[in-house]
Amino acid sequence: MANLESFIRDVPDFPKPGILFKDITPLLASPAAFAEANDTMLAPFANEQIDVVVGIESRGFLFGTHIAEVLKVPFVPIRKAGKLPYETISETYDLEYGTATIEVHIDAVSKGQRVLIVDDLLATGGTTKAACSLIQRLGGELVGATFLIDLAFLPGRSVLEETGLRVEAAIDVN
Ligand code: AMP
Repeated sequence: MANLESFIRDVPDFPKPGILFKDITPLLASPAAFAEANDTMLAPFANEQIDVVVGIESRGFLFGTHIAEVLKVPFVPIRKAGKLPYETISETYDLEYGTATIEVHIDAVSKGQRVLIVDDLLATGGTTKAACSLIQRLGGELVGATFLIDLAFLPGRSVLEETGLRVEAAIDVN
């Protein structure tokens, strides 16, 4: 199996000038690379009790549903504002320009359930930090967060670790 990083395509200036977008579609196109990515994302948590996997819209759903199915535990989506049909709670957080809001269904996580957060990429950590708040407001306990890619030149990992969250990533980009 080739290096996982070779299945990530760098697309400069997408979706706007100055952003180097990490395109995971070549990884999704390779069943072997996709399987290895999921295995690598889950391995650090192999000895943890996990009751629920939470995936963050939208690429977190691709890995999160698969990991939940492997663990035989429920999958819960955290979505952008206005997408979830039932009653929700929401968190708003700062972006470089403006704010973003994410939501979760009020009955998605029960008190005391141990939650693993899954997303494709860790950048500033803002999205995951807001996701952690949603889970904690529902009474869930955070086991950690696992990512395919950590943009390690950005402060996301330390932002999350400062809150006590365990952070793991299959690929560190320096
Ligand atoms: P952040 O909240 O800054 O950690 O951003 C994380 C979210 O933004 C993830 O859901 C990523 O999918 C997306 N994202 C941020 N930067 C990039 C990038 N350079 N390439 C691809 N996705 C990105």
